[in-house]
Parts: sequence; C-alpha cells; structure tokens
Amino acid sequence: MSSSTTVGTAERPLRVAVIGSGPAGVYAADILTKSEAVKSGELTVSIDLFDRYPAPYGLIRYGVAPDHPRIKGIVNALHKVLDRGDIRFFGNVEYGTDITIDDLRSHYDAVIFATGAIKDADLNIPGIELDGSYGGADFVSWYDGHPDVSREWPLNAKEVAVIGNGNVALDVARVLSKHADDLLVTEIPENVYKGLKASPVTDVHIFGRRGPAQVKFTPLELRELSHSKDVDIVLYAEDFEFDEASDDAIQSNNQIKTMVGTLTNWIAEQPEDLSELKASRRLHLHFLHSPLEIVEDPENPGHVGGMRFERTELDGTGNARGTGEIIEYPVQAVYRAIGYFGSALPDVEFDHKRGVVVNDGGRVLDVDGQHVPGLYATGWIKRGPVGLIGHTKGDALETVTYLLADRENLPVAAEPAEDAVVSLLESRDVRFTSWEGWLALDEHEKSLGAEATAAGGSHGVAVERERVKVVPRDHMVKISRGGVQASV
Ligand code: NAP
Repeated sequence: MSSSTTVGTAERPLRVAVIGSGPAGVYAADILTKSEAVKSGELTVSIDLFDRYPAPYGLIRYGVAPDHPRIKGIVNALHKVLDRGDIRFFGNVEYGTDITIDDLRSHYDAVIFATGAIKDADLNIPGIELDGSYGGADFVSWYDGHPDVSREWPLNAKEVAVIGNGNVALDVARVLSKHADDLLVTEIPENVYKGLKASPVTDVHIFGRRGPAQVKFTPLELRELSHSKDVDIVLYAEDFEFDEASDDAIQSNNQIKTMVGTLTNWIAEQPEDLSELKASRRLHLHFLHSPLEIVEDPENPGHVGGMRFERTELDGTGNARGTGEIIEYPVQAVYRAIGYFGSALPDVEFDHKRGVVVNDGGRVLDVDGQHVPGLYATGWIKRGPVGLIGHTKGDALETVTYLLADRENLPVAAEPAEDAVVSLLESRDVRFTSWEGWLALDEHEKSLGAEATAAGGSHGVAVERERVKVVPRDHMVKISRGGVQASV
C-alpha cells in the first residue's frame, strides 16, 4: 500500500478477511480491532469473518467434548466479540469454491487464514484400513454434531482401544465409556444420544507408547475421568516405570507431578483382585505400549478383531524403545487419537509434513520462502495442532502485529466496498448465513433445550437441557436464513 493512498481511513478502511471463525479467527479479528493504531484513530479497519460452517466458533462447537461446559464457555467470550457489530460474519462460505483467493484479493487488502486442523494424523500400521478402525477426530466430529459427518456411527464394540495419551484420547475414551443418560445434560444431538445409548461397550482401553510421566494430558482432564458414573478406572502396576527424565519432569513440572500423583493414587486405591470392581464399564489406562498392528477378526473378515502392541521401556531420556515383547488385546474397534493434522488450502503454500500453511510467524510464504504480501495465518493452521485454546491468543497477537507492521506494503483491494462481497456471494447463489442468522439458530437450539426441560427431561431422564444442537447443514442454513423452523 503506498503511503499516498487513503486506505485505513474512515472513508476507506483497511479491509481484512479472516477465514475461519473458531477461537483463532475471532481472536485475530478482535485483537486487530483493539490494536493501538485502531484505538488511537490512526487506522480504521473493516473485518469480515468467513466460515465454511453455517454457525461460528469452529473448534469450540465442533471439537470440544459436550461434557466440557467450562471450555464450551469460551463461546460466551467469542459471542461478545462478534455481537459488538464491528466484525461481520459470513457462514456457510467455503474458501476455494464459494470465495477464491482472487476474490479475496480483489475485495480485501489482507487475508488471515485461521482454518485450524480437523483431520486425524495418520497412523501407518497394518490393519488401519479395517472396518472398526476410526480416527478420534472423526468421532469427535460425530458426537459434536458436525454437519458434514454421517449421523450414524457404528457403536457395536464391547471392547475398544484408543491409541494416544493426549486430551483427545481422554475425550474419546470418556465419551465412549460414559453412560449416554449422563450426557443428556449436555447439548448432544438426538442421534448421538441414541447411538451412545445403544452401545454395548464394557471396556475402553487407552494406550500410551511412553510412561505415566510422559503423558500429554492435562491434570483437570485426567482427573475428570474418575467422575463418570458406573465406570471404574483400571491401571496396571507394570506400566509404572520412571526413568531419570521422568523423575526430572516430576520435579520440575507441576502438571506432570499432579498427573503422576493422580495416577499413582488411583492405582493405590484399586483392589488387587480386579474382579472386585463393581461398575458395569471399565476404562483402562495402559502405558509403554507402542501400536504395531490392528488385527483382523478371523470370524468377521475385514473387521477389527484385536490390537497388537510392542511393549516399550523408557530409555533414560523419557523416550521409549521396543522390548520385543508383543501383547495383543481382543478389541472390536480401534480409535487413533494421536494428534490432529491441518488440511491444505487452495492457492496457499502448504507444508505437508507438518500440516501447516508455510509461514514465518504468521506471514504466509511462497514456494521461494518469500512473504506473499497481504496473506497471513494464525492458530493451528499456522503452528500445528498443539496447545490449549488460550495459547491461540498469543499466536493471533503475533500475526496481527506483523500485519500492522506490513501496513504500508499491503496490496490494495480493487473492490473494497463492503457491499461488493455480499453481491458477489449472492451472484453465486451462495446461501451464506449472517450473525443475525446465528442468533436465530442459537435461540432455536436453546428453545429445543427448553422444550425438553419443560417436558420433564429427555428419554425419561429428568434433566435441564440448555441447548439441543441442530445437526444437518440444510436445517442450520434454513433456520439461520429465516426459513422454516426445521427440527433437529
Ligand atoms: P497431543 O496432545 O499431541 O497428544 C498426542 C498423543 O498421541 C501423545 O500421547 C503422543 O505420544 C501420541 N502419539 C503420537 N503419535 C503416535 C504414534 N505413532 N503411536 C502412538 N502414539 C502416538 O494431541 P491431541 O490429544 O490431539 O490434542 C491436541 C491439542 O488439543 C492438545 O494441545 C490438547 O491439550 C488440546 N485439547 C485439549 C482438550 C481439553 O479438554 N482441554 C481436549 C482436546 C484437545 P508421544 O507423546 O509419545 O508423541
């Protein structure tokens, strides 16, 4: 942007598009509007937030487990930002098809990609393609009522393996093992309740490839496992191995210390004879198990029948090495929860090894490592799927700081009028949703919750339901756009 242009003034604000309305996108938009330059009146900005889903909030709506109201509560903060009215929301708009990079270039001076990561990282072991082998992230999408995921989920396994020792593994294992009635207080959609209610599951096993001091869980989430009614936690003494690095971690890291404390307390309280456990379901935590192969069920060809591991031992540095001992567990389903992976975006250089947009501190780079003027990234698509939601704020601040530092050199949009992008989407028959549309859908979902509460609860269980989620994309769009009050 040459200094002689008037971009950034009240007559011609700096036009910025943010792609993705999860925490990363909303934080970036919010931080930009609250930047010193804007607050002092030196700069005027006009921000449009796009999302491929008809509803905002990304990961919070479609990635956080329904029985995590504390984290779901972040929605209230995001709502406040978008409800101020200085950031426009366009839902149900897919980057790359409904709106392309060329469109964004001609309507905005800068674009921030905040598309997150929703896919499962690959686990390349034999048998991964068998029926009954699933991605944890796909299961999360299902139980969170993601509009693009099948509404049916095959829950017919009695014994299940969950691979990974991160918080997603805990979420997946907790939801699989919890009794469906105990989830009725949450916003779970009807189809999810019915699916979980019919599940014959008795044993869910979580497997970590390293030791108890190397888990990637967080203390609160780990402790929460013991809150599920009629689910016993089972641990195994032979898995409690600590090397020098483990001792160092326990001494120096409070979170690790707390979690090792929790785990050792649990095992100390456990009866020696496991048959004395009384719950109808068990959640087993195993350590030092490295996944080798998903075994086919000989009586049900093409379907998971077991999970084979190599037992590992710690090598002194906190890493694990194989011992050559092979252990097999009879399971009928395997969920890998070994991390998320970002998806490539059209017309943006992508690092296929790390699953991130190629960038330097949030400045998007081209194939030669040069900053593409006007393009930025933030959140998991910038730094990979690590860290809690709060970490995303610092990330957004870094990206926005670069954007503002680049202000004088941004390419100037040819069609900056706010109406122009609306006309473009309308001309393409894109059934986009708006903030007002979301408020209508929000009300609708809350009214479904109120109806259930007034009727004395759901499915014979007396619970207060704050919300019942609407799942099909079409229904979400219809309700948001003021159409028929479609049901769930
Ligand atoms: P994560 O925290 O990175 O954990 C991944 C786990 O998978 C690790 O235990 C890792 O073991 C294991 N793993 C990776 N590759 C493996 C392989 N080939 N074989 C066996 N195990 C393997 O990932 P995540 O659970 O997807 O979570 C992503 C982020 O979201 C994290 O920051 C998490 O805290 C956050 N999150 C938070 C919540 C919450 O409730 N607060 C809920 C969900 C997610 P190694 O350590 O040995 O590599």
